[in-house]
Amino acid sequence: MLALPTVVGETMPKYDFDLFTIGAGSGGVRASRMAGKLGARVAVAEESRVGGTCVMRGCIPKKLLVLGAHFAEDFEDARAYGWSVDGARFDWPQLIRNKNKELDRLEGVYRRVLRENAVTLVEGRARLADAHTVEVDGKRHTAENILIATGGWPSMPALPGIEHAISSNEALDLPRLPKRIAIVGGGYIAVEFAGIFNGLGAGVTEIIRAGTILRGFDEDVREALAEEMRKKGVTIRSDCQVRAIEKTNGRYSVRLAGGDAVEADVVMYATGRAPNTKGMGLEEAGVTLDNKGAVAVDAYSRSSVPNICAIGDVTDRLNLTPVAIAEAMALVQTLFGKTPTAMDYANIATAVFSQPPIGTVGLTEAEARERGPVDVYLSRFKPLKHTLTGRDERTMMKLVVDRKTDRVLGCHMVGADAPEIIQGIAVALKCGATKAQFDATVGIHPTAAEEFVTMREKLPEHGKG
Ligand code: NDP
Repeated sequence: MLALPTVVGETMPKYDFDLFTIGAGSGGVRASRMAGKLGARVAVAEESRVGGTCVMRGCIPKKLLVLGAHFAEDFEDARAYGWSVDGARFDWPQLIRNKNKELDRLEGVYRRVLRENAVTLVEGRARLADAHTVEVDGKRHTAENILIATGGWPSMPALPGIEHAISSNEALDLPRLPKRIAIVGGGYIAVEFAGIFNGLGAGVTEIIRAGTILRGFDEDVREALAEEMRKKGVTIRSDCQVRAIEKTNGRYSVRLAGGDAVEADVVMYATGRAPNTKGMGLEEAGVTLDNKGAVAVDAYSRSSVPNICAIGDVTDRLNLTPVAIAEAMALVQTLFGKTPTAMDYANIATAVFSQPPIGTVGLTEAEARERGPVDVYLSRFKPLKHTLTGRDERTMMKLVVDRKTDRVLGCHMVGADAPEIIQGIAVALKCGATKAQFDATVGIHPTAAEEFVTMREKLPEHGKG
């Protein structure tokens, strides 16, 4: 049974605040401002910039660089459409300056939103003194509820020379564009940055320990993206273990097991992120952490200490900004909206802003097969744009359908605009759409998206995972 805390305004305040949030990232800001809007007395502590990972070191700056990188191909492709674009030059410092200007603007917006909802911003590093007390730079603040929304931080394996490696944080602000970059890791961040640096003209070698990139994604998606990345010039070294990074004359050698080495001007690691829970007094206050150091929470984002909650990457559930925001909304409903609300994690669409990008929602074929028999529809085609450019880029689209119920369980795409297309499809999956309903939907012609409603031939022997 969920014990609801005191409803705002019903009792004399026992604490300085109704809610004290630690971390002003996407989740923390959303929870704080929504609680403030409902009349709760709220403070939020932040030791770095307001906006957190997504706005300052993640989604937003990354996507701006992805957009910037794509112009290289756009200029090339423009010729086939009759344009002369000779003399186009790229200026990395200018892109970084413009990107940083936008981040400053966004930080201003986030700060204003907090002010407008009467949220007190406490700048400094916060630590729990006890289950109702947060200490920031020696000053103590008491609160009925405490929300941990401190996100995560890049984690790198311990190996000789790892101090030479940068993370995505530094990659977003390099003083100059490297000629050659080695990127270790095969997850979202690694493939996105491989696309950015490759697009901007750097030689990119992606070093992965697995057989291919993007573990956890549908196998056809993994294969399709790896193939497109290779065609664009990214070298993917699979089944490779890094032994050490050596620095000589300002250049780096990434030494691989087996004696081989990859030479680079910059070595970037994107080998996952760890929850920010260290040195915060969490365990001392009774908060249970899981084996990865994430705050263990129940369906209502409540930790082992009933008045301490946690949302977003620090809980290591589904580490995506819109998920942190949705968890924040559910939590505010639970704490201040008189409606205990659990977050629904089903059919959350996600995108990888690789080049070309991925959009995906629902189950992979392998996950769907574990639940029962499925039909698979798959289409690969040359996008209309490239019929003139001659660029050898293929789009891949795939539907995974429950054979018994006809429900579409998974929808996957690798190709231009995939994230934009899949967002709409996610609504259909959330509504439980069937393949027959997809088929009854009239397409928009000529688009790539129409392929999702015109695929009629199921794959006869599609038994792989
Ligand atoms: P991921 O967990 O997605 O991927 C980590 C990668 O690093 C995997 O390929 C993994 O290999 C590899 N790896 C892990 N440890 C080692 C090691 N010791 N040596 C070599 N390789 C290793 O992490 P990311 O850093 O890419 O991203 C972190 C999170 O951020 C993601 O989970 C995602 O939720 C979020 N994110 C979302 C984005 C989006 O929505 N577009 C963009 C960027 C990040 P293996 O597969 O073999 O385990």
